[in-house]
Parts: sequence; C-alpha cells; structure tokens
Amino acid sequence: MSTAETVRLPEYNVTGQDYSQRSHLRYAGPPILDIHSHVMRPRNFEKPDVIVEDNVEQARTMLDVAAEFGITRTYTMCPADDIPILRDAFGDRLGFNGIINKKLDEPEDVAYRLLDRFLELGVEILKFWSAPRGRERGLFVDAPWRIEAAKRARAAGIRLMMVHVADPDVWFSRVYTDATRYGTKADQYPPFCRMLELFPDLNWIAAHMGGDPEHPDHLEELLERYPNLYIDTSAAKWQIREVSAHRDGIRALICRHPTRFLFGSDLVTRPALDREHYVSRYWCERTLWESDWVGPSPIQDPDFTPTDNGTTTPMLRGLALPPDVLVQLYRTNALRLLKLTTDEHS
Ligand SMILES: [Zn+2]
Repeated sequence: MSTAETVRLPEYNVTGQDYSQRSHLRYAGPPILDIHSHVMRPRNFEKPDVIVEDNVEQARTMLDVAAEFGITRTYTMCPADDIPILRDAFGDRLGFNGIINKKLDEPEDVAYRLLDRFLELGVEILKFWSAPRGRERGLFVDAPWRIEAAKRARAAGIRLMMVHVADPDVWFSRVYTDATRYGTKADQYPPFCRMLELFPDLNWIAAHMGGDPEHPDHLEELLERYPNLYIDTSAAKWQIREVSAHRDGIRALICRHPTRFLFGSDLVTRPALDREHYVSRYWCERTLWESDWVGPSPIQDPDFTPTDNGTTTPMLRGLALPPDVLVQLYRTNALRLLKLTTDEHS
C-alpha cells in the first residue's frame, strides 16, 4: 500500500467487523450487571486531576450502548467529586466503587479521609489497586494503611472489596523485566492471599480474571483455598487474547465454579471516544462469554505478537458458556454479593 492509500483503521475495529451482526449473542436472560468500569468526567490520561470534558456526555454514550447490550447497572470507579454528578444524571444505572489510594509521601490519614468521603457518598465496593507498577508508589495490597482502611470499611458495613493483583504474563516478559523493582508474577499473590486470610468475612473480587487468565489451574487453586474469593472478567483485550488461548481450561473452570465469576468490562470514559469504541468492547466481551464465534479479534491489541497465520490481532474464541452458568456470571452472583433485590434491577 502506498502512503496515499494508507487507511488508518480505528483501534476499535481493525478487521472491518460489522458490529450490527449480533445474532450469535445467545443470552436471553434478565439484565446484566457490569461490576468493573471507570465512568467519570473524562480526564487527562497523564494528569488525572485535569478534567478534559466537564460533562457526563461520554458517560451517557457509554451507558446507552451498555443498555443496548442488555447491561442495566454498571459499577464505576470514579473520583469522589464525580459521584454526586453521575448519580444525579443516571440514578440507578450506576453503583460506585471507591479506590483507596494515597501518594507515597502522604500521611496515612489521607487514605482514611478518602475512605470516609467514599463511605459518606454511599459506595458499595472499595478497590485496592496494587498492580506491580504501583509498588514503587507504596501501593501494596497489604500495606498497613490498607489493612486499617479495610478494618474501618468493614466496621462501616462494607462487605465487598476489589483488588487489581497482577498484570498479563507478557508484561512480565516485556515491561516488568526488573524483578527487583516489580517482583515476579508469582510474587504478586502472597500479599493478596494474606488479605483474604486476614478478612475472611469480606468478599474479595480479584479483577481481570484474577490477573491470571494465562493459568486457569492457578485460579482454581485460589478459588478452592479461599471461599471468600471472586473473579471479575474485565479487561477486553487481555481476556480476548488469553481466555481464547486457554479456552477449554477457562470454560471448565467457570463451569466448575459458576457462583464465583462476575461480568466486568473495564471500560473507561476517556475524552473524545467514539461511540463505536464502547460498542466494540461490549460486542467482543459478550461474544467471548456466550457465543461459539471464532475469528480474529476486531480490537487492536499492542500486547499481541502477530503469528504466522497472518492475523494482526489475536483469535477470539467464544466459550459458549451454558445458559445457567451465564446468568450467574452476568447477573445473579453480583446481585447476591451486593445484596440487591431483583425488583430493584429487573
Ligand atoms: Zn479497571
């Protein structure tokens, strides 16, 4: 192709997929809950304090697309300031998850004040983000200030916690090559297990397929050891790539433990996103879990190494989960953990 002919394909559709084709989506049950997203006023990626679009239009676009895909309630991790604005605009369509962070040099009290603010604003979940790249910023899942925050949250009635515990295997071979700084992938899990043991009366959601869709045997071991552990399915590119590559193992795992998985998208309302960006994620995520569709993923994936078969994106191989398993993953597990009644979310 000459330069003049080069067409820039949008990241959300590099294969020319017709997203209006939805006849393969088989789920016909009651509405879906999305347990993991980042709906907020769009912010600058480099400077998250800077609001780029001071309105809820991206949120409106995303939630309208969600509804088109049968998702009627979405849990968002957003800054505390955005909660009243979003609640005003969208009411019951949103629930809230508060991320408890502080900067390395800040006193512990900063985290406790943030917790108090989130509790006043009625969050139902708290998140401890503790990816390997957060280690240098002191964001260990079992940092003393996080243990104290979990105790205070529990005393205030919170029963559901979410943790980002690890990142894709490929990142450990490409990005986190310095194990003295980031630890190995295996090193990420003992601090998380410690929290599961310290707080057996809290339910813990390990985000992004527990951070380890590459190893369904490891996830199974964790699920069997910790009855208070749950797993969300979020992060489209990662799960399309690795769940498809471990299709039979992941399918068998979910079918053996159908009460332990929760649907999540990990969609983020970023500035100036096209509606089709949201469509692509919901389309692929539902395709992955409920259909037997097989083909190159329509979404560009920088973590995929093109192989000999010539595709530039990983293969998406649908798991075609059975209907009775799907309804648990899409809905009833979240309703139960959040103690929501079906009347409220029919
Ligand atoms: Zn997320």
